[in-house]
Amino acid sequence: MNRRQTIPKELRYTIEDFNRQFPTDDACFEHLREQRFPDGIAYCQTCKQERQHHRVKGRPVYACDECLTQISPMAGTIFEHSSTSLRLWYYAMYLMASTRCGISAKQIQRETGVTYKTAWRMFRQIRSLLSEPDMQLEGSAVEMDETYYGGTRKGKHGRPLRGDKKKSPVIGIIERSTKKRIGRVKALATPDVTAERVLGIVHEHILPKSTVFTDEYRIYDRLGGRVKEHKRINHTAKVYVVGDVHTNTIEGFWSLVKRGIGGVYHQVSQKYLQTYLDEYSFRYNRRDQGNLIFTSLLKRVSEKAAQPASIPAQMTPAPTDAF
Ligand SMILES: [Zn+2]
Repeated sequence: MNRRQTIPKELRYTIEDFNRQFPTDDACFEHLREQRFPDGIAYCQTCKQERQHHRVKGRPVYACDECLTQISPMAGTIFEHSSTSLRLWYYAMYLMASTRCGISAKQIQRETGVTYKTAWRMFRQIRSLLSEPDMQLEGSAVEMDETYYGGTRKGKHGRPLRGDKKKSPVIGIIERSTKKRIGRVKALATPDVTAERVLGIVHEHILPKSTVFTDEYRIYDRLGGRVKEHKRINHTAKVYVVGDVHTNTIEGFWSLVKRGIGGVYHQVSQKYLQTYLDEYSFRYNRRDQGNLIFTSLLKRVSEKAAQPASIPAQMTPAPTDAF
């Protein structure tokens, strides 16, 4: 894991940089427009083709040069239907991208001056940008492990008793870093921890040519044959590393997440747990980018706008979101 305390110059993005790049609402609006409709070119629903568009004076919309049909760069994005200024949205994204452990809705409220309800909604929407459900791991060496969050029984080997609803299972897969590329992680809050669940995840997110490292837990018994090679470490015999056989990388990620959310969560619904996992994974997978995570986040706005909405409009703040 990258434990550098200082971020190299080219990866720094300070509040001065933010203020310079986004001094006004309009600067944010033009940035969003350029992301969504580069050079003002966009598909016109009336002309049924790509057309040049121009800004409508005094309004946050663009119009087709040919037929004047109007389009908004905000349509389909997390900013649509929001009365909060675009610059506050951008600033909240900057805040969320600039801390190592993420920030809460409470902090967004404090820093931006919006109501808690609004801050919570922004927080949820911004965090929705961080999920990457289709990401597949491409590394040749992948570790797989399961853990539990919430509840009072500590440690993964204190596996919860049957019917213990306070512990939420999570299954994780992580690539080992190579000289060329940092390893990425995928962590999934799952309804159960079974051999079938494990096989489903392997099938969907790990390439058959990968070598997979796990412990001796029986849910991994059927991995051999699905991947190039399955190597196991015998944790119950208190063996943790034999040559390249270990699950230390994924365990490092688990403790990172636990340090971040462990103190806050006592009872956690799977739905919210997944969003926390997504946020930590998003950061982890870009840990070589320094503060440029903000830039990645801005890109996600238009990428996500192309996908169907994943968050229902009417949601109430989570009781656990109090830190
Ligand atoms: Zn048109």
